[in-house]
Amino acid sequence: MDFEVAPLPYEKNALSPALSEHAVEVHYEKHHKGYMAKLKAAIGGTPQGQRSLEEIVQGASGTLLNNAAQVWNHTFFWESMKPGGGGAPSGRVAELFERDLGGYDGFREAFIDSGVKHFASGWVWLVVHRGMLRVVTTPNALSPIMTSTPPLLTADLWEHAYYIDYENRREAFLETFCDQLIDWDRVAARLEGVPTPGGEEFADTIVMNK
Ligand code: MN
Repeated sequence: MDFEVAPLPYEKNALSPALSEHAVEVHYEKHHKGYMAKLKAAIGGTPQGQRSLEEIVQGASGTLLNNAAQVWNHTFFWESMKPGGGGAPSGRVAELFERDLGGYDGFREAFIDSGVKHFASGWVWLVVHRGMLRVVTTPNALSPIMTSTPPLLTADLWEHAYYIDYENRREAFLETFCDQLIDWDRVAARLEGVPTPGGEEFADTIVMNK
């Protein structure tokens, strides 16, 4: 891998006022690139550096895993949003929301509620688990790509993700994320090729220990 953070898919002020330019600047330049700097320092000259970011996330543990997963998760987060996004989706995503989550309203409630109730740092995700759309959270840096659970969408639950604009109001941040920011075209593209036959029920929170 080349140890370069992917460019943002929009200008840093493009999500304002949902997310301010200053908040995006600090989050992207300091936090996201900071994880990459730590990853590079940890593996720069070693054979691990020849692997893809996904391979490192799926094969590493400890400091290496934490920084690699944070780099991957942040790129996925930025690419989950667009200016003027949010609201109810259409097409296959909407159909699967009806089948699996009680429609868009059910998705929105589960996404916000799971994110608010998640203790401390982590991520809230829309994933495909056993062929069904599900909302899950992961602690700290952990990522669904460590499992056979394809992610479709994520919001960052670390305080640095929302404190500049929303102070301690994580719920308000997640409401704005759903109503004004989600890039449903990107979600639909991520869903392409992922089988969704439906299947077993499972707990709302994936617990991953590594
Ligand atoms: Mn973050």
